Amino acid sequence: MVGVKAPATVLVTGASGFIAVWVVKSLLERGFSVLGTVRSAPKGEYVKNLFEKDFSGKFSYVVVEDVAQEGAFDETVKNVDAVAHTASPFHMKGTHPDDYFVPAIKGTTGILESILKYGTNVKRVVVTSSNAACYNLEGDGLERIRPQVVAEQGRDAPPASMYRASKTFAERAAWDFVEKRKGEIKFDLVTILPPWVYGPILHDCPNPEQLNTSAAYFRRIALDPSATHDRETLLKPTNNWVDVRNVADAHAEAVVRDNAGGERYLISNGAYIWQEFLDALAQTELKDKVNKGLPGELSTTPNPKYSSGAKAAKELGIVYIDKKTSALDTAQSLLERFP
Ligand code: NDP
Repeated sequence: MVGVKAPATVLVTGASGFIAVWVVKSLLERGFSVLGTVRSAPKGEYVKNLFEKDFSGKFSYVVVEDVAQEGAFDETVKNVDAVAHTASPFHMKGTHPDDYFVPAIKGTTGILESILKYGTNVKRVVVTSSNAACYNLEGDGLERIRPQVVAEQGRDAPPASMYRASKTFAERAAWDFVEKRKGEIKFDLVTILPPWVYGPILHDCPNPEQLNTSAAYFRRIALDPSATHDRETLLKPTNNWVDVRNVADAHAEAVVRDNAGGERYLISNGAYIWQEFLDALAQTELKDKVNKGLPGELSTTPNPKYSSGAKAAKELGIVYIDKKTSALDTAQSLLERFP
């Protein structure tokens, strides 16, 4: 199927989130109108005000308090041409797998059901998945995938495993849905699989305690002077990373590009070690405001590349932002917000 071209209207769920605000921006910059769903009117007003000057009248919002509610999206999908579904819990506060599974899975199948019933104009659906949905990083030799960890340990499983399993199940549910209903649906699906996402924050965040999980992680390591970090945290290869602006552009290009339909895209700029970010920041104007970690100790550490973002570079035109630029922009925005 063909992609959706501007000027058309794209629904972005969870539009007040860290990644989603950048997705909204990227879509507005491409000439789309955006309808966002948010959990409260003040969150919607924040995003509306953010874009009012540069994109007057192009962003509007509706309140959808809980994506898992039956028929939550029945109304909102009626007059849109494409959907970017980003809303899903990404926090470490859950105490039961269902804290993650219900909104992640029901939110995803629910919006697809709503589109099938009422979203007659929708031609393209982009779902924000995670690289957690495509491979296991735990490296315990058994290669147990997160769904197994959660199945074995239930509510005793670590929240990170519950979260990662929720992303696996949600993406699987999306692909199962389009496979089972292929005779009925008029849209095609694209999934975006980022690893850890850093980069500047645009979304509303009154205090550091309310920061989204990945920005809070960056802040703790790089900017919190009271934090102490052990060698393993600073020097062990830690999954992959990518800048939020690349993730946002990937969502927008996945809406637009004809050939993206039916594809899964890893959006990744490769593996990282926290010390690499700290060393990069130490070469910038922020050098006196950031944690130094263990400078000079990197050379002994292997830095494997777990996954490749090359397909997204080639097919979605993503030009990955480098570590130094991303680290500087992230640190700068966090210091501006929380001096
Ligand atoms: P945020 O916490 O900033 O965004 C999550 C968004 O989902 C928020 O707007 C949140 O609303 C909304 N949301 C969560 N649960 C519900 C619910 N039950 N009903 C309605 N809305 C809900 O985190 P990110 O921007 O980082 O995450 C966005 C997406 O990206 C998620 O799908 C996440 O899994 C995925 N992702 C993120 C990565 C990262 O490193 N940041 C890496 C890989 C994937 P509210 O804040 O109002 O509760």
